[in-house]
Amino acid sequence: MTADRENELLASIPTGLYIDGAWRPASTGAEFDVIDPATERVLARVADASPADGEAALAAAHAAQRDWARTAPRARAEILRRAFESVTERVDDFALAMTLEMGKPLAEARGEVAYGAEFLRWFSEEASRISGRFATAPDGANRLMVVRRPVGPSLFITPWNFPLAMATRKIAPAIAAGCTMVLKPAALTPLTALLLTSVLEDAGLPRGVLNVIPTTRAGAVTGPLIKDSRLRKLSFTGSTEVGRRLIADSADQVLRVSMELGGNAPFIVFEDADLDAAVDGAVLAKMRNGGEACVAANRFLVHTEVVDEFTERFTERMRSFTPARGTEPDSTIGPMVDAATCDKIESLVAGAVEGGAAVALGGVRPDGPGYFYPPTVLTGVPHDARILDEEIFGPVAPITTFATEEEAIRRANATPFGLVAFAYTQDLNRALRLAEELETGMLGINAGVVSNPAAPFGGVKQSGLGREGGFEGIEEFLEATYVGIADPFAANRS
Ligand code: NAP
Repeated sequence: MTADRENELLASIPTGLYIDGAWRPASTGAEFDVIDPATERVLARVADASPADGEAALAAAHAAQRDWARTAPRARAEILRRAFESVTERVDDFALAMTLEMGKPLAEARGEVAYGAEFLRWFSEEASRISGRFATAPDGANRLMVVRRPVGPSLFITPWNFPLAMATRKIAPAIAAGCTMVLKPAALTPLTALLLTSVLEDAGLPRGVLNVIPTTRAGAVTGPLIKDSRLRKLSFTGSTEVGRRLIADSADQVLRVSMELGGNAPFIVFEDADLDAAVDGAVLAKMRNGGEACVAANRFLVHTEVVDEFTERFTERMRSFTPARGTEPDSTIGPMVDAATCDKIESLVAGAVEGGAAVALGGVRPDGPGYFYPPTVLTGVPHDARILDEEIFGPVAPITTFATEEEAIRRANATPFGLVAFAYTQDLNRALRLAEELETGMLGINAGVVSNPAAPFGGVKQSGLGREGGFEGIEEFLEATYVGIADPFAANRS
């Protein structure tokens, strides 16, 4: 990858706020730096929205809502379809933007472009399938009509780890349903969202429907919007800690909320597992996105009969990763997103080792520049180690053991989180028991990745509320209005 190609792409991405169909600087003139986590160098300076800019964005979304709700579903579908085609054609631009601002290797970034674009296609197909219902009341008299309507102006707050897909997973169903919106992308990764915005603008999205306000003052800018009666919906993806606060703030307006929050995924390997498949799946579930994924395997629970063989084979695979800036052709793991992420990983590993865990691989943070952390395997991790309770968000695999199915289920469920679980077994009945007994929104059976635009993504317990993707994804943006109609034959009967 040449520096010229990087500079050419960076120069082509808008760096302003996008409000009411126009690019503009922040009202205060403020800007902030976007940093390359592999080199710690500044990539771009982006307009830093103020609370007044946030208010202007919501005003634009509110003003556009009525007309947008009345557009033909097919018209909304076609905008999404054009955006899907454009993102797909520009896969290299989107992939490079993500690699530069977030760090993941280009091959992985391309994978995210395909995944993120699919939400545009899936919801372009869903837009024209929104339906209500009409029925005769059980007593045979009145008629019951249910009309589906867009919920209204929505606020989206998205994280840095999947800068494209976390945005399209909200924007696409909102467009399909006829909602207008304000997007606040993570300050670490605004460029991908701004590039997506320019694609949606070119695809014909009317002014005011999507407003984008990168800011370094997330709470100060979005807080007043959440308390503003013009807002009707909040959809957040990020940490449980922030999500919990936003749910509390949403109570004032009784906002509809969707929350895609943190996880603590167990990866369970039973004694009857196909170990080749389990090792492949473990590498995927742990190392996708460098471990910086809410669905990353966070705890490995391996049956005592197979733990030695699994650990040996898995460690060899973890050893084969090549850490390098994501633009390097041989890079298979890029840097973590920032220094704070590396610090947290380092402290979780140190805590586990102090508690008695052994380091089978990695565990030593290299010198900079760049926020690199090496693939790491810990064995004999004590059951009370903090690393088993908290999201690691990095390439560290803590391995523990279990002796019975009951113990595996009990330990897998012993967390306030419930986003995803992975289990490897060849016993169909056991797999079905797990589907009923694991407290999780998603379960991978002999599969290390479950994310799919056609499936409902989301968690139970403190991992969230609501679902994104699938048929369920558009429901988050629709209200039901029930219309009771008097018996049309009443006059004939009297
Ligand atoms: P985060 O710190 O909660 O931030 C997420 C978003 O919230 C960012 O845009 C952030 O803005 C914003 N934010 C932070 N404080 C806020 C406040 N007081 N008011 C309003 N917005 C605020 O999470 P993160 O570190 O970016 O992302 C990692 C977390 O996201 C992990 O816990 C991961 O599991 C979770 N996640 C969940 C899913 C899912 O689908 N369940 C998917 C991906 C990630 P700034 O960054 O600009 O401060």
